[in-house]
Amino acid sequence: MLNLLLFGPPGSGKGTQSELLAEHYGLEHISTGDLLREEVAKGTELSQDIEALISVGKLVPDHLILDLLFKHINQMDGKKGLILDGFPRTYHQAEELVKEFNARQWPIPLLVALDVEEEELLERLLERGKVSGRSDDHEETIRGRFKVYHEQSEPVIQFFKESHSPMIEIDGVGAIDEVTANLIRGIDQFIKESNN
Ligand code: AMP
Repeated sequence: MLNLLLFGPPGSGKGTQSELLAEHYGLEHISTGDLLREEVAKGTELSQDIEALISVGKLVPDHLILDLLFKHINQMDGKKGLILDGFPRTYHQAEELVKEFNARQWPIPLLVALDVEEEELLERLLERGKVSGRSDDHEETIRGRFKVYHEQSEPVIQFFKESHSPMIEIDGVGAIDEVTANLIRGIDQFIKESNN
């Protein structure tokens, strides 16, 4: 079983690249942002609270996302492997991820960190905002999302280092297919080394 998690700041290409990698390696792609947007669209009790947080670029509470994600995972069949996109986004989520995967005797996902500079990210997200219709793709919220990323999500890297969990960093600048090729090269290398 191959498990991956694509990690990086907003706009680094996690969604696009996760889909391409899911296709390449035959993995199940799970985006927690998509799970939340689906929840909002359902108009459940929680919808308004979730949308209020997403639209200002804040994270939803850990217990909520953990519950939503692992319910979704439990319902899936054919588990060749997972690619997580947008999760974990806090230190605590990373701890829980490791606990849940260990309990299922699944390999801890390889953290694949996409590296892109902030100015490039801002440009990309403003472009995306023109077509995405997402409530969080405008400048003020984007700046807020960068701040949340630095303060709350970067500690995930710290957790992976401390727990000696697998991690690689990939240059996320360039054409989409170039970045995909870089990712595949890095991931294949990891697979080769872990088989030795
Ligand atoms: P994304 O589609 O990954 O950019 O996520 C959009 C928004 O959904 C984020 O800005 C957060 O408000 C929320 N979100 C997505 N994933 C998580 C997560 N793992 N933990 C908390 N909030 C999340």
